[in-house]
Amino acid sequence: MENKSNVLMQRYELGRLLGKGTFAKVYYARSMSTNQSVAIKVIDKDKILRVGLVDQVKREISVMKMVKHPNVIRLYEIMATKTKIYFVMEYAKGGELFNKVAKGKLKEDVARKYFQQLINAVDFCHSRGVYHRDIKPENLLLDENDNLKVSDFGLSALAESKWQDGLLHTTCGTPAYVAPEVIGRKGYDGAKADIWSCGVVLYVLLAGYLPFHDSNLMEMYRKIGKAQFKCPNWFPAEVRRLLFKILDPNPSTRISIAKIKESSWFRKGFYSNKTGTEKDEVSSTDTDASGSCGNGSTAAESKQDSVVPPNLNAFDIISLSAGFDLSGLFEDNSQKRETRFTSRQPASIIISKLEDIAKQLRMKVKKKDGGLMRFEGLKEGRKGILSIDAEIFQVTPSFHLIELKKSNGDTMEYQKILKEDMRPALQDIVWVWQGEHQVQPQQHLQPQDQLQQAQQQE
Ligand code: AMP
Repeated sequence: MENKSNVLMQRYELGRLLGKGTFAKVYYARSMSTNQSVAIKVIDKDKILRVGLVDQVKREISVMKMVKHPNVIRLYEIMATKTKIYFVMEYAKGGELFNKVAKGKLKEDVARKYFQQLINAVDFCHSRGVYHRDIKPENLLLDENDNLKVSDFGLSALAESKWQDGLLHTTCGTPAYVAPEVIGRKGYDGAKADIWSCGVVLYVLLAGYLPFHDSNLMEMYRKIGKAQFKCPNWFPAEVRRLLFKILDPNPSTRISIAKIKESSWFRKGFYSNKTGTEKDEVSSTDTDASGSCGNGSTAAESKQDSVVPPNLNAFDIISLSAGFDLSGLFEDNSQKRETRFTSRQPASIIISKLEDIAKQLRMKVKKKDGGLMRFEGLKEGRKGILSIDAEIFQVTPSFHLIELKKSNGDTMEYQKILKEDMRPALQDIVWVWQGEHQVQPQQHLQPQDQLQQAQQQE
């Protein structure tokens, strides 16, 4: 029997604990609408607030959402409650790559395949200005087809700050994968530091043990600083040459990714990934693994053909909302010109309400894709024809966020219409206007209500 408390936001059934990090726990979960397996990382907001990581998390999340590569764990969506942030991610069924290495060194071809996939992922992310800075065994996962998936790309700020906090020593064990210049705590080039870590990974895959290891931490640092390592006799000459170029203690002479890719060992039997780089993309749109976009829509809603509201997740809400406790860090409100409200009505009701209002105001309605409606005045105003955009975002099928924005015409005219006509007319479908507080009944709160409530507080 499913325990109700294991259902997150009425959308995911949380399963077993997959692993633990300093700030997070990762659970297996299943989308209740599509049955798709996902991994959900649960981060305590309190913890990241306490160590002042909110800004980094915010910045890195936005990057992470944009990085789509077959060898990088996809971040599907982010949800939040007042106390927690949930990262819904691609689930890597095969677990950690290093569970394989723990059983012994890998065959050269197998190691090469993983290394090629790792380099492809890192190269792709670097080309987008994203550096991992914490490539290590726990972050290299395998999917059900034995393909490598790098996780935590984009959450590097977390790792880095852990380091500055000194937490890394106590919680993350050996820094065996960290480049010498990172240990030196000088300013460093994230790309070069990642290349070093990839070299350590390659060594471990082929050898079955670490290149730099010592029971005394200071001694290990010294070895890393001097790149003092030996290759076992089964390492082919080509690999040795490559490794010496990667594990170069001087970041400015360390081999680049382009050169690694040109090396003869790397190129051998180059793994051609069917879902390879031609599919790589940086997208600003949110692909939702949960299939929540449009799922569960009522027939009435789907009839609203061209006005299908795009899905909005909690991260977007955080970014949009002025009232949410983290929101001050997410948006500069002084620039805000638009008006927003939330509604607990389905899209179909919201759309027909907006159409009614347009009729009363003698405005033309144009429906556009992606939940956008445009109202246009029939007469020229002081600054041309007044035009107002209403954009509807779906959070859940029965919970929407609507944004109203002037797209043309005179601002005074717009504000007058908004205040005197639109706001009163919308009243019966508005749950709460942005920036306005609403006292909530405490009983029978659904997770989405809690989320919404969290938005209103503070
Ligand atoms: P992290 O906090 O990202 O280091 O995650 C802790 C552990 O959870 C990892 O070492 C993995 O064993 C597991 N894990 C993290 N992300 C995933 C995922 N997307 N799929 C499967 N297991 C994961």
